Amino acid sequence: GPLRHVIRAIDAAQPFDYESQLHTQYVKSTSLKIAVIGFGNFGQFLAKAFARHHHTLLVHSRSDHSPAVRQQLNAPFFADLNDLCELHPDVVLLSTSILSTQSVLKSIPFQRLKRSTLFVDVLSVKEFPRNLFLKYLPQDFDILCTHPMFGPESAKSSWENLPFMYDKVRIGNDEERIKRVDKFLDVFAKEGCRMVEMSCFDHDKYAAGSQFVTHTMGRVLERFGVESSPINTKGYETLLDLVDNTKGDSFDLYYGLFMYNKNSLEQLQRLEMAFESIKQQLFGQMFRVYRKELFGSAEEEEEEERVRLLSATKETQNGAPVEQASVDSERLEGS
Ligand code: NAP
Repeated sequence: GPLRHVIRAIDAAQPFDYESQLHTQYVKSTSLKIAVIGFGNFGQFLAKAFARHHHTLLVHSRSDHSPAVRQQLNAPFFADLNDLCELHPDVVLLSTSILSTQSVLKSIPFQRLKRSTLFVDVLSVKEFPRNLFLKYLPQDFDILCTHPMFGPESAKSSWENLPFMYDKVRIGNDEERIKRVDKFLDVFAKEGCRMVEMSCFDHDKYAAGSQFVTHTMGRVLERFGVESSPINTKGYETLLDLVDNTKGDSFDLYYGLFMYNKNSLEQLQRLEMAFESIKQQLFGQMFRVYRKELFGSAEEEEEEERVRLLSATKETQNGAPVEQASVDSERLEGS
């Protein structure tokens, strides 16, 4: 109501008053310390959202290539993972390339982390990191596998209604751990994502048929060279959008979708078969039309002859030389 507005205005003018201190304390108590490992295209994109939701960030990458973005987010850089782990992040988030995930994971000094740490990944394939986590992480660590089904290009302005897939692979049973994972998921829920809880197994099945095929078509069309024309149809515009959507992603990412999802090869083969079969349908139709034009009259005569012979056969079946007639019709069948 209007009273509330008046009070807020006073708050803004006196930043050190009790209420604003309370607010700061509240934010601190609900905020997570999130270590982002792999500060590339996608890692930065996610880090911006974590900062918007008042979480504290720590950053590691092979090199400090984006200091401006980090400074904007108030996120210190750690070249050495030992130093980062000693600061005891609540969440360690892997946003490395699919291909490098195993070696990065093995390089993390787990013993320097809190005994209860939540590991999260955002890889575009899911069974692969799930299995790596289960294999390498200490038993006490929690595991959340996620796939935000959007990127810096497709979700430039808002995350509203965009699917966020997650699988609580291993979350310890105490309240703190349950709250921690919910706080993390809340970032995506509050941004308006459509939260989809799903097993990593099912994710990979669906994603090979949808995401991998989408990336493949985007890359095929890019290589083919689609260009805007003065008479773009709506359909053509969607093709141009598709190319825009996929061309920003690294080849490492695309290759990862192929190599680390066991369903992708089959989908690639199905795509190739579908293309081949459409081609055959076109050519088949074309050949039928040509043949009619070239041999049309001859074929019509043949057909008349065939009908004549068949009726002759019927007549002879009632009488004498059946064998001869059936041989004739067999020969015709084969022609
Ligand atoms: P990417 O090419 O898949 O990954 C780039 C990141 O991986 C960079 O931080 C890079 O480190 C790191 N990296 C690459 N090779 C490495 C190596 N040998 N050792 C250590 N680190 C290495 O591009 P991305 O788009 O940023 O994707 C990151 C992850 O998010 C991927 O797993 C991807 O599947 C997933 N994802 C991406 C999107 C998207 O729209 N882009 C959407 C959903 C999920 P440096 O920073 O040191 O170069």
